[in-house]
Amino acid sequence: MEAPVARYWEPVEDDVVLCTLCPRRCRIQPGKRGTCRLRENVSGKLIAAAYGRTIALSIDPMEKKPLYHFQPGWAILSVGPNGCNLRCGFCQNYNSSQLEAPTSHVSPEELARMADRPGCRGVSFTYTEPMVWFEYVMDAAEACKARGLATVCVSNAYLEPEPFTELLGVIDAFNFDLKSMSDDFYRDLCGGELKPVLAIIERALDSKVHVEITNLVIPGYNDSPTRLRELCSWIAERNPRTPLHLSRYHPSWRFSDPPTPRKTLLRAWNVAKEAGLEYVYLGNVYAEAKYSDTYCPKCGAALVRRSGYRTELAALDGERCAACGADADFVNL
Ligand code: SF4
Repeated sequence: MEAPVARYWEPVEDDVVLCTLCPRRCRIQPGKRGTCRLRENVSGKLIAAAYGRTIALSIDPMEKKPLYHFQPGWAILSVGPNGCNLRCGFCQNYNSSQLEAPTSHVSPEELARMADRPGCRGVSFTYTEPMVWFEYVMDAAEACKARGLATVCVSNAYLEPEPFTELLGVIDAFNFDLKSMSDDFYRDLCGGELKPVLAIIERALDSKVHVEITNLVIPGYNDSPTRLRELCSWIAERNPRTPLHLSRYHPSWRFSDPPTPRKTLLRAWNVAKEAGLEYVYLGNVYAEAKYSDTYCPKCGAALVRRSGYRTELAALDGERCAACGADADFVNL
């Protein structure tokens, strides 16, 4: 299938185009692609060159995204493009975000049909950076909606506000990376900026969409209690019931430092709880019940027990605590 003309760009001069989808705002010469490698200038027109081309088609547990408060216990069909608009030196998926990887084509309708099966709740756009796969995500999410399927997006939150508003209309749940509260961190390690990221997450938290946040805890770079407190307080001030996943870093791509020590993760968990966040989880590491299960914010009953990606709905009645009836901040569509 021929790739469609992209949205969110403008001609500049001499067949050069300016992409306005994400804050990078690449000026792209004819025959070249933007930084994300997903959008190409073909004779003065910006083409969504990666439309429908996915690096994987995999049925994953919802908890692997990670989403702990959205359709718990369900599976989801996961897809993602071969590219990203950030350049995080520690990227845990660099093989597909930063390097060329094999892809296969799946049309929006085909994808929705594949996801429409027993036990699978819908489609997750994930792995690399799906928001800059914009045209395909919009079409595939519409195809999912037509079948009553759920849509999930796991993202770095680096997009311009206008296209993001469009995504809010078709995506049911987001997990956003919030890597640090330091602009220097985003500039020096990721080739981006903090401000647009905060603007997108804030916009999502102000809307009705389900939001969870992940922070990859990297020793020596973003794990100081002061910085973590700043990050957790920022979330708590907007909604203290936003689930936060503190994820263990492993050496990857340009980072060879050893993995995050367990005691650093436990310290981060305590900082997050002290900042007032209700639901804080450790990820990418074996974690005792206290750090992986969900407890009722009112009576303390264990609502969901997790072991690895195994999920037991212990005392959850739809979106409420089966013991006391309190709203437990779950979404079941
Ligand atoms: S979406 Fe891609 S091409 Fe467009 S500005 Fe961002 S990185 Fe550049």
